[in-house]
Amino acid sequence: MSSVTRATFDEVMVPNYNPAGIVPVRGQGSRLWDQQNREYIDFAAGIAVTGLGHAHPKLIAALTEQAGKLWHLSNVMTNEPALRLAQRLVSLTFADKVFFCNSGAEANEAAFKLARRYGNTRFGPHKNTIISFHNAFHGRTLFTVSVGGQAKYTQGFEPLPGGIRHLPYNDLAALKAAMNDTVCAVVMEPVLGEGGVLPATLEFARGVRALCDEHQALLIYDEVQTGNGRSGSLYAYEQFGVTPDILTTAKGLGGGFPIGAMLTTHALAEVLAFGTHGSTYGGNPLACAVADAVLEEVARPETLRNVAERSAQLAAGLRVLGERYGLFGEARGLGLLLGAPVADAWKGRAKDIVNAALAEGLWLLVAGPDVLRFAPALNIGAADVAEGLARLERACARLR
Ligand SMILES: *Cc1c(COP(=O)(O)O)cnc(C)c1O
Repeated sequence: MSSVTRATFDEVMVPNYNPAGIVPVRGQGSRLWDQQNREYIDFAAGIAVTGLGHAHPKLIAALTEQAGKLWHLSNVMTNEPALRLAQRLVSLTFADKVFFCNSGAEANEAAFKLARRYGNTRFGPHKNTIISFHNAFHGRTLFTVSVGGQAKYTQGFEPLPGGIRHLPYNDLAALKAAMNDTVCAVVMEPVLGEGGVLPATLEFARGVRALCDEHQALLIYDEVQTGNGRSGSLYAYEQFGVTPDILTTAKGLGGGFPIGAMLTTHALAEVLAFGTHGSTYGGNPLACAVADAVLEEVARPETLRNVAERSAQLAAGLRVLGERYGLFGEARGLGLLLGAPVADAWKGRAKDIVNAALAEGLWLLVAGPDVLRFAPALNIGAADVAEGLARLERACARLR
């Protein structure tokens, strides 16, 4: 068998990514090892996905047990893991009904299609505008990049779908001015994730809900990144005291196994009547068995308590490093989704800090060119957080 390395990527993979120089081969908890057996602390969790760390015994058991039973049936027949997972999601959230798919983009695609059908069938074809926010990220299909608020992801892919408006985030006056009876939905991330780890203000979150009610527009929460415990509650909407009409989730839901879900109410579920939408793999037994085990573990009070404690530890450690080395400012965010904006002298160079950290054995993320993003596993231990901070300090010292 021929060996593969990072150089193989450039030979045989489409260049839409530029992965790091190392190739990890195994993981355990919040540690990773590369081909040279070098060890890394994981503050990225596969971009807020592996919420229970790597090789969690309960997830391995759920996957291997299901693997020996049944892999796939299609949507012509339902299956026990999908039914159990749907029951669990319904019992843990505002939702009455669940649609399964395979990714965050697909969950949002389903939500936006539901919103359009809701406008069309309940009010008429004029009610078709979807309002979203600058710097929002909702996935990479053509509809979801178009609803997302980052021009770099739509450039060159025109013509784009119409009926979409973008407004400044956390600006209630702008939304109030834009709302009218052609709006079928407003979609928001409770914390702008890719757009810089910026939380919604309470006033904004509540104001958006009120404006949607006033104009009979649906409120869609994209909790693909904030969901499944990452924000410190099972879903971030709980912390705002705002209930969306539709919630989308993916990333952490499968703990590293691909799955997405759209959650909604009885009344809205009726809009997606038989035959109106679908997915070959949506509700796949392997994915649903793993996600059910993930949710059982994540919803435990101990897990959510650890998120709060490690979040405080990480934020305090970052504050010390920020003051000592001057590379970045105070971290913001919710739970274990934290973002530290780089100092003016480092504008546009967050990636340089990430690369220096990787050289010291720490995997971090950026959220755009100016923000360092921290999204470790929800069950990361205090010792791993401390060791990660020590490695980040070495990287900061070297950059200075
Ligand atoms: C990652 C992300 C998506 C897209 O999810 P995919 O699984 O990559 O399709 C959508 N919305 C938000 C908020 C995300 O962070």
